[in-house]
Amino acid sequence: MALIVQKFGGTSVGSVERIEQVAEKVKKFHEAGNDLVIVVSAMSGETNRLIDLAKQISEQPVPRELDVMVSTGEQVTIALLAMALIKRGVPAISYTGNQVRILTDSAHNKARILQIDDQKIRADLKAGRVVVVAGFQGVDEHGNITTLGRGGSDTTGVALAAALKADECQIYTDVDGVYTTDPRVVPQARRLDKITFEEMLEMASLGSKVLQIRSVEFAGKYNVPLRVLHSFQEGPGTLITLDEEESMEQPIISGIAFNRDEAKLTIRGVPDTPGVAFKILGPISAANIEVDMIVQNVAHDNTTDFTFTVHRNDYHNALQVLESTAREIGAREVVGDTKIAKVSIVGVGMRSHAGVASRMFEALAKESINIQMISTSEIKVSVVIEEKYLELAVRALHTAFELDAPARQGE
Ligand code: ADP
Ligand code: ASP
Ligand code: MG
Repeated sequence: MALIVQKFGGTSVGSVERIEQVAEKVKKFHEAGNDLVIVVSAMSGETNRLIDLAKQISEQPVPRELDVMVSTGEQVTIALLAMALIKRGVPAISYTGNQVRILTDSAHNKARILQIDDQKIRADLKAGRVVVVAGFQGVDEHGNITTLGRGGSDTTGVALAAALKADECQIYTDVDGVYTTDPRVVPQARRLDKITFEEMLEMASLGSKVLQIRSVEFAGKYNVPLRVLHSFQEGPGTLITLDEEESMEQPIISGIAFNRDEAKLTIRGVPDTPGVAFKILGPISAANIEVDMIVQNVAHDNTTDFTFTVHRNDYHNALQVLESTAREIGAREVVGDTKIAKVSIVGVGMRSHAGVASRMFEALAKESINIQMISTSEIKVSVVIEEKYLELAVRALHTAFELDAPARQGE
């Protein structure tokens, strides 16, 4: 007998029929004698619908009130799933984040889980009940409803698994595991049997939204056995693990991630004096805008160009801030570009192999894709390119690093 936390994503509970299917599945696990805590997302599209509603009132809705509203999506699905279980003779009870008491900080729309009270859940499990918990939401110390950021139900699942010391946290979704890259973009992508926490964390933070970044952080920190599986197809899925197997077959690159959520800003003709980077990025950071990649060109004529990327949502604010900085420091001009994309190759194998970056650049050169910015770390190389070449770049890299699945017969 095991204690398992199972999280079902939006598409998996996207209709009444699907919720009935999930209930059937949960019933089987329950009959097999497992203790089950089920975390569900809102029905697919519901969170977007709610955010759109709020935006009809105000372009920038008050964060606290937005949380009061978007948290309702998950309240609907927990109740429906509990009803579907009870209808099948499976004792079940649903709880909102507040009812469990998933305590978070007060950072509305992107709150962090601080503590989970496991008493109620443990008592229900002891009484043989399946406990259904709303994903994505919590409550702060003042009793305000909070939410955990898009994709946050993954984090609810992992955090509950950590708090309950569950034997496994299973993330059920609409793909049968973590792939070498998004299988919707590259049909030849392959499912990985295993991926390390470290690689998964890079993949998630570089744009692979199959798991929310924080859920991977949590799982790594508390060593929660984490598996990504298909909701309605049998299969082993992908295990996120700690061990970095030493094997000859281990590929240099485990996966390719990409992200269309960034925008690029360049300030040209900046006087090249000490403190310039701070003068440019200080006001950006003071405006609460996070900067991702940064490039400063070598100076000529005592002036230089300075380029950085920010989240696309912050683009207009960043542009305003930068224009005022440009006037202050006497820079020549400010230009921006929102039609960029970031492509990254990720793999722990990079540590022991040289020439990975140049192989990447070669593959992009062969497709005549111009690289605008580059950044590297121990286990990843990222490049910024023109957005329209994104899919071509991902496919070319997937092939160049020998990640393509062998073609099936008849294909
Ligand atoms: P859920 O609603 O179940 O949380 P998400 O849409 O958040 O599902 O995440 C699953 C999606 O993640 C898949 O449909 C797939 O398109 C996308 N995805 C992106 N990168 C990857 C990857 N490397 N492996 C698998 N899926 C990926
Ligand atoms: N419903 C939330 C969202 O769409 C949380 C989740 O699905 O994980 O982002
Ligand atoms: Mg998700």
